[in-house]
Amino acid sequence: MAVTQKTSATEQTEPQETFQSLSPATGEVVGTFPIMGADDVNAAVARGREAFEWWQSIGWDGRKQKLTAFKAEIARNIEELSRLVREENGKPYADAFLEAVMTIEHMAWAASHAPKVLKRKRVPSGLFLANYGAYLEYQAFGVIGVIGPWNYPVYTPMGSIGYALAAGNAVVYKPSEYTPAVGKWLEAACARAIPEAPVFQVVTGLGATGNALCTSGVDKLAFTGSGRTGKKVMAACAENLTPVLMELGGKDAMIVADDANLDEAAQAAVWGGLQNAGQACVSIERVYVTEAVYDEFVGKVKDEADKVRCGAAEDSDIGPITMPSQKDIIAAHLDDAFKRGARAIVGGPDAVHGAFVDPVVLVDVPEDSPAIREETFGPTLPVIKVRDVDEAIDKANGTPYGLASAVFAKKRAMEIAASLRAGMTSVNSVVTFAGVPSLPFGGVGDSGFGRIHGADGLREFSRAHAITKKRFNMPLDLMTFQRDPKLIPRVTRLIKLLHGRG
Ligand code: NDP
Repeated sequence: MAVTQKTSATEQTEPQETFQSLSPATGEVVGTFPIMGADDVNAAVARGREAFEWWQSIGWDGRKQKLTAFKAEIARNIEELSRLVREENGKPYADAFLEAVMTIEHMAWAASHAPKVLKRKRVPSGLFLANYGAYLEYQAFGVIGVIGPWNYPVYTPMGSIGYALAAGNAVVYKPSEYTPAVGKWLEAACARAIPEAPVFQVVTGLGATGNALCTSGVDKLAFTGSGRTGKKVMAACAENLTPVLMELGGKDAMIVADDANLDEAAQAAVWGGLQNAGQACVSIERVYVTEAVYDEFVGKVKDEADKVRCGAAEDSDIGPITMPSQKDIIAAHLDDAFKRGARAIVGGPDAVHGAFVDPVVLVDVPEDSPAIREETFGPTLPVIKVRDVDEAIDKANGTPYGLASAVFAKKRAMEIAASLRAGMTSVNSVVTFAGVPSLPFGGVGDSGFGRIHGADGLREFSRAHAITKKRFNMPLDLMTFQRDPKLIPRVTRLIKLLHGRG
């Protein structure tokens, strides 16, 4: 648990309110952090503007070298970072390690591909402006504000931070109040690798600090969290016409077809639904299984899920719920499902206990219940029987969310994937798109808009700048009052010849 207490820091001349981040498993204090106000945030953005000038001045090669040093700093200290994530977020060490590994891969890709994707390039200028050179370049915005969540406190914000830095921006980051220590660790690692200027700064605090970042005049704001807060962030950013990127979570569906490999599908459903105690925007939250294989699949899921160990122990598969209030939402979804006839084949109504939630696999859950339609963010997995794949697709596409999805099938696998209304789909696997740096990450509908990762992620933190440059004069020039009167009939004939058919 993170924020609980505000105290006065007595050692300071100007007392500043502080908050503590607590280990969700033990309740021990992980760290005490200042609650920064608008002045602190604005000062950080101003420092970011100066750092941006320097960051620009060192050019593509300089930034690549510096970002590679930042990545190396994380890689060299990966054990320390993974332990801190475990302590502050509660997840098992292996999960913390996995998110650090994926982050390093993404940083390496962003650093090395930014020049290729964003640098000025010549593009075709077309027949009527053949005497012009046409150039497209992507310029950095300036200072990017990032507001991040607690569930993947390294991987998720670094998807914005790493790509924004690689695109040539400076970054001011407000971590969740539940994981500020991880945010500060990342800032310190960057400062060791790039001591010349604060290209990446962290501001700590609660919601109001995030709001101050939205209204600080940053050039773009990347937000990850709930839709409810996302709307507040957009409204605050609207004041300065600050563009936003929204990554808002999902209700991801998996489809299991008649010809799926059921052993692999069951293992993937259990891992995809329960890993990180289900606290993932891209966790599998609904599994639609065709009736021909439903019973066999449910049996295999039960066998797999029965093995998942929940607790604070070093070798647990899933840890505590990081944000205490989430337990009420999980309990409410389970309660509602049980009242409406759902059955648990793993776990049960007493799954929520202390800081932990034991795995629950549900069957017979009504399609219009919160457990199927709303983000549960807990280790619960509803498995639903459908007539065929077409019904599965309809149901998978039946919520306002559209983040990720998974398909287990042989013959129609790619066709099913293409018909899913989602930003990302894994075929015969789950969540694998998240580890491929060249693929964009983001959603549609209530899951938000904009993309991190990949070439799209680099362009998301840049603005396109189009340039034309005259190379020589041409008689065929329509863009002048001095045009030859015979030009219009000539061009009329030409345009009909070139484009008048079809
Ligand atoms: P929020 O959306 O409330 O918080 C996300 C981030 O926004 C945090 O850093 C938070 O800071 C900050 N914030 C809060 N209020 C404001 C504001 N007015 N202006 C600017 N920034 C603000 O998510 P929660 O952590 O409360 O989780 C709620 C739900 O969101 C979960 O139940 C889950 O369903 C979903 N969620 C989705 C995630 C995803 O990956 N898409 C990640 C996390 C949660 P602070 O923490 O200091 O309040």
